[in-house]
Amino acid sequence: MEREELNVRLWLLDILACPADGCKHYPLKLSIFEWEDDSAKRILNAGESYAKGDVGNMKKELKGSVKVDKAKEIVEDELARSSMEVNKYISLFKEKVNSIFRNVVVDETGASTQLINAIINFNPPSSLDEPFEKAIYLANWLAFKVNVQSGILVCEKCGRFYPIIETIPHMLPDDLRDKKEDKEFLSKWRKFVPKKILEAEGIT
Ligand SMILES: [Zn+2]
Repeated sequence: MEREELNVRLWLLDILACPADGCKHYPLKLSIFEWEDDSAKRILNAGESYAKGDVGNMKKELKGSVKVDKAKEIVEDELARSSMEVNKYISLFKEKVNSIFRNVVVDETGASTQLINAIINFNPPSSLDEPFEKAIYLANWLAFKVNVQSGILVCEKCGRFYPIIETIPHMLPDDLRDKKEDKEFLSKWRKFVPKKILEAEGIT
């Protein structure tokens, strides 16, 4: 895997499972504490544009990886990773909303909340109309084009947590975890870490 692929972008929620022996639960829940570099600002700008119905900048950043052919009713994008007729794509879009966007539980910066809600509340019509086309660009952009700098992934089945430090998810089984790093991480972000985890780890 290339390093870039290890950076936490939202699409990773679609594949990350709990690495603990005997758990392997999927999907994990993501809380975002901090976005990388200018990501938060770009998200806020994208939010303003999207509210006005403008997805031009997102389209540009996606560099042709998303193709919406309204005449042929075909979509090709990063979520589907192939070319799909619209009926099939609609179910895939709904699946991805559930596996990716519904698993962002908190964005402490508030930057992405509005856009994520826009995706979650979007009801795909049966054909490729303009609002759907825009929602497709938005979902692709938000899933693939912004990086989480710091945050936490939580497994709801076994209660374990996995830190995101400098955009990298530390997905290690128990015997390979760095206890000192875990404590430092939890203390640093204690304001934002779910209370249950702080209590379990004895951080006050
Ligand atoms: Zn687990």
